[in-house]
Amino acid sequence: HLTKRLAAIAACVPNGARVADIGSDHAMVPINLVTSGKVDYAVAGEVIAGPFARAQNAVVAAGLAPKIRVRLADGLAAIRAMDQIDTVVIAGMGGILIRDILARGQQELKTVKRLVLEPNVQEDVVRTWLAEQQFAIIQEKILREDQHTYEIIVAERQAQPVKYTELQVKFGPCLVQEKAPVFQGKWQHRLVTNQRILANLEQAQNPPQQKITTLRTENQQIEEVLHG
Ligand code: SAM
Repeated sequence: HLTKRLAAIAACVPNGARVADIGSDHAMVPINLVTSGKVDYAVAGEVIAGPFARAQNAVVAAGLAPKIRVRLADGLAAIRAMDQIDTVVIAGMGGILIRDILARGQQELKTVKRLVLEPNVQEDVVRTWLAEQQFAIIQEKILREDQHTYEIIVAERQAQPVKYTELQVKFGPCLVQEKAPVFQGKWQHRLVTNQRILANLEQAQNPPQQKITTLRTENQQIEEVLHG
């Protein structure tokens, strides 16, 4: 049984995909995808011994060892050409780490059509990299679970250049259009937090101008997106 976040991630994997879950830890996503019959071949990659053993044990316990290869490897090095992976899932890490894993795996990415990414923070870094690499964001999800807000980014490779505005990169091209309640809540909360920080900074003996400008700019962007 998957948590809300993991279920939303699994739902972004197409039927019949050959999927690699990088940084799989408990291997819950590949196990669920194979058990439900949505997928019949998956790779679970882990770079750390503990989570690797956890993934391995979970796959064996589920009786899925023939269908899910668990590999101890750094990033996309878990993928082999014979796997014919077409969908890569990377979830539960910072955006910078996700970007670096993707950038170091260009060779393995050649056959990959779809990326399902869930950066915990620095979503903008991921979106910028995707556009640079001609991946278009075809779907985004935003959800709340255990007091956290999670964003899921689904991207597919394009033949033509992909370009996003600063606002699309920051807020998400699909999310900013949809403006779901969870999205509004996230940015409304950020706005109020920034306002509180600004009020303190402006009273300082030596107000840090750079920081104040950054926060004011962000608040203008949030206002524009939420109420503009
Ligand atoms: N993907 C699962 C999820 O979303 O629930 C687990 C997320 S867990 C917080 C992050 C996992 O990524 C850890 O188990 C960590 O060992 C793994 N990881 C970090 N860097 C990695 C890398 N370069 N290659 C493979 N796995 C990595």
